[in-house]
Amino acid sequence: MLMSTPLPFVRDLAIEYGVADTVSPLIRRVVAKNPSAFTFKGTGTYIVGRGTVAVIDPGPLLDEHVAALTRALAGETVSHILITHTHADHSPAAAPFKTATGAKTFGFGPHGSGRTRELEHDPGLGKGPFEEGGDRAFVPDLVMREGDTAEGPGWHLTAIETPGHTSNHLCFRLAEEDAVFTGDHIMGWSTTAIGPPDGDMAAYKHSLKRFLPGADAAAARFWPTHGPPVRDTGKLVQAYIAHRDEREALILRAIERGATTVPEIVARVYLGLDPRLVGAAGRSTLAHLIELIERGAVVAEEVPGAPARYRLAGR
Ligand SMILES: [Zn+2]
Repeated sequence: MLMSTPLPFVRDLAIEYGVADTVSPLIRRVVAKNPSAFTFKGTGTYIVGRGTVAVIDPGPLLDEHVAALTRALAGETVSHILITHTHADHSPAAAPFKTATGAKTFGFGPHGSGRTRELEHDPGLGKGPFEEGGDRAFVPDLVMREGDTAEGPGWHLTAIETPGHTSNHLCFRLAEEDAVFTGDHIMGWSTTAIGPPDGDMAAYKHSLKRFLPGADAAAARFWPTHGPPVRDTGKLVQAYIAHRDEREALILRAIERGATTVPEIVARVYLGLDPRLVGAAGRSTLAHLIELIERGAVVAEEVPGAPARYRLAGR
C-alpha cells in the first residue's frame, strides 16, 4: 500500500572517497566521506572543465574533503563555486574552499530566501530526523537566477530555478553534454525530501515537470549530488510524479475515512512504518496537505492548544 508503483532507483555506485574520478569528458567527481540515510554514500562534488573549472557543491565541513578537492585541482584555476542549495551537506565547505582558491561563490541566495509562505498552524508532527539541516551561514557572492550562465573554456553552466526541496534550489545545465546537475531536486537512488516550511510540494511538482521529456529543462543525463548518474531521465521523472500523485491520493482517502490529524493520516498512509521515520513521514504528509489546502481540496481547522485538524473541503 505504501507505494504501488516501483520507483526505478539506480544504486550501483562504486566510489573511492577523496579521489577525483573522471566520469565524463568534462566532468570529474570527488565524493565526501559523509554517508548517511540522507546522503547515500556521501556528497558528490562535481568539477566541470579542465584548466579553468567550476566546482558544484563543495559539500559538508569536512577538512579532508576540502583538502581532497584542493589536491585534485592543483595547477588548475577555479573560476566559479556553484551552490545548488543550502543544506549542510552541500554548501558549508564553500567558505574554506573559497579561501583556498580565491574563487567567487554563486547561488540563488541564503537559506530560506526563495520562501513564499510561513506555516500558519501547528501541524502536530512527531520528532525525528528528516533531512540535512539548513546552512544559515552561506551567502553567495553573486546571485544566480533562471537562465544565468557561468562559463569557462569549453563549458557553460546555466541555472534552472527548481524550488521545492528547498526554496533556493538551483539545477545547472551543462549544454555541452546535454546534462543537468540536479542537486537534491532529482536523485537517482531515492525520492527527495520535501519538508515545510522551506520545502514546498506544489513548487516541487512544478519544478519536477520541467524535466519531463519535451519540457524546457529535459536532458539526456542527470548528475545528482548523491548517487550515480541517471540515464533514463524521462522515465525517472514520470515515476517520481506518479509516486507523489499516489501518495496524495492515499492522504485524501485517509481523511475521507476519518483521519483528522497528521499522525492519524501517517498511521493510515504509511503502514508498518519504522517508528524512527514517523517525524519524516509527518513532514512529507504536511507538505502534501498544504498543497491540498491551497488547491481547495482540504480544509484545516485550528484547534487551540492542539495540532490542526484536517477535513475534505465541502464535508
Ligand atoms: Zn538537500
